[in-house]
Amino acid sequence: MTPTLRVHSYESFGAVDGPGIRLVVFLQGCPLRCLFCHNPDTWSPQGGTETTIPDLVRRAVRMRPYLGQDGGVTFSGGEPLLQAKPLLAAIQALHDEGFHVAVDTSGGVDTPDTRAVLDAADLILLDVKSPTQEGFRAVTGADPAPYWRNLDHLRATQKPIWVRQVVAHGLNDTPAEKDATRALLQGLNVQRIDRLPYHELGIHKYEALGIPYPGAHLRPPSPEELKL
Ligand code: SF4
Repeated sequence: MTPTLRVHSYESFGAVDGPGIRLVVFLQGCPLRCLFCHNPDTWSPQGGTETTIPDLVRRAVRMRPYLGQDGGVTFSGGEPLLQAKPLLAAIQALHDEGFHVAVDTSGGVDTPDTRAVLDAADLILLDVKSPTQEGFRAVTGADPAPYWRNLDHLRATQKPIWVRQVVAHGLNDTPAEKDATRALLQGLNVQRIDRLPYHELGIHKYEALGIPYPGAHLRPPSPEELKL
């Protein structure tokens, strides 16, 4: 059977999701429930549009003139590792066409298939939800063990990583949290760190979905709190 990916949406000219200009493919489904998530519409693994790998590759090939030499394709979500098997096939097919492929992940899913995806991607955009296991559980509502196992794997393989960390006042902005974040990243092949200020732009999606917004107590950080 032809493998398909459930795609939530696309961004054709992504400029911050990896090097150069990117075709960003947002995959459907996420097992985490981050307090500050602004894409609750990606959570359900049942939604999205079933898309074959050849269709996806054709879309990327059509985009190639705009992606240039430095750009490529980034899989984001939702949590792309939730669809690890077809995602691996998509990465391999895009590699066959010469595309650079990045995977933007929370790191919260860990199976032999997800390891294969981490190994196949050219670049991992890795979320740091919290530098401590207890903080990870508080922010995401999920078991932190898979994330820490993925960190061990990424240290062992020295996969290139761009770190992304949403910073909110009172959540993960203290000097102790910053020290713990630096310690967490030790030994990883980190090429870039983006600390992103918490914002409330996704709140309307919760209203539309009829879900209470879990991050109502969060506030954006000050410029000083945002620095690592
Ligand atoms: S991992 Fe991303 S998509 Fe999933 S809940 Fe957290 S912020 Fe939302």
